[in-house]
Amino acid sequence: MIIVMKKGAEQKEVDAVIQWIESVGYQAHVSKGVERTIIGAIGDEREKVRLKAAEDMPGVEKVMPILQPYKLASRETKDGDTIIQIGDVAVGGPKCVVIAGPCAVENEEQLLQTAHAVKKAGASMLRGGAFKPRTSPYSFQGLGEEGLKILAKARQETGLPIVTEVMSAADVELVEAYADVLQVGTRNVQNFALLKAVGLAKKPVLLKRGMMTTLEELLMSAEYILASGNEDVMLCERGIRTFETAMRNTLDISAVPVLKEKTHLPVIVDPSHAIGKWRFVLPLAKAAVAVGADGLMVEVHPDPQHALSDGPQSLKPKKFARLMEEIESIATIVRKDGVS
Ligand code: PEP
Ligand code: MN
Repeated sequence: MIIVMKKGAEQKEVDAVIQWIESVGYQAHVSKGVERTIIGAIGDEREKVRLKAAEDMPGVEKVMPILQPYKLASRETKDGDTIIQIGDVAVGGPKCVVIAGPCAVENEEQLLQTAHAVKKAGASMLRGGAFKPRTSPYSFQGLGEEGLKILAKARQETGLPIVTEVMSAADVELVEAYADVLQVGTRNVQNFALLKAVGLAKKPVLLKRGMMTTLEELLMSAEYILASGNEDVMLCERGIRTFETAMRNTLDISAVPVLKEKTHLPVIVDPSHAIGKWRFVLPLAKAAVAVGADGLMVEVHPDPQHALSDGPQSLKPKKFARLMEEIESIATIVRKDGVS
């Protein structure tokens, strides 16, 4: 249920409603808008009619059911957009944020070279996998903690916050000790134990859409993280599986405006994993910015031909710099503050 307070309701009235919600066994999530305060009461669905009684409390305008199955992720329970602050970077704000770097951390030289290049081109965060979810158990699996240490060194040298994947609930503590943003990959989008574990973490989460998940399922996965207490979740469209075989996946560009309407959470687009070929990354990146994505995630490698994973879709640093230039003009049209 949502308890909508009257315009100008006093803080003590808001506090009394929160106290009452908690006393009947629900969690209260408060969203203070410009005009009024909305309180989401989250808990047992079957008993929710009891909450209707809040309508008689001072300062309350109305009590309404939350119509969507995802409650905290829904725009119904929050006024305005979620803006996630990561150091100097604000995801979901007026600027389009670009996360760039290699698919996997391979060695120190490869990562530092890429980090300096993407920083110079204007990227705002560095990505790189230390734990890699590979289709084949014989493929490079990532450097593990050694990779995390290299990422931390790159952050120290460039100042770029680090985005890196965590594949299992057991690794959350370790990855959180090094990373600025915890990435939950496509293959783990419905690993509910992992979602709950990153929900308890103190770092923002980048949640990638599964190859076969609907937008509602993606939002329900985000709900797991939010319901565990972590409010800083960004969603990432990275292509879904369709009948088309000409590209690695099909970028669902319509997911961006549809998600933006349904949720207050920021939406990032990863054109690299969607298309699977470097030469199509730029047009898709432009489309993503034009359609209102809050950011991009792009794979960059200094020597894609010898990359240990995802070389065919990785941009060389020079091409990435061109991408940054070309999306700037689009970003200045569709967003208040352009790129990064
Ligand atoms: C990645 O970002 O390197 C990755 C493995 O992505 P996805 O989970 O989208 O396949
Ligand atoms: Mn990759």
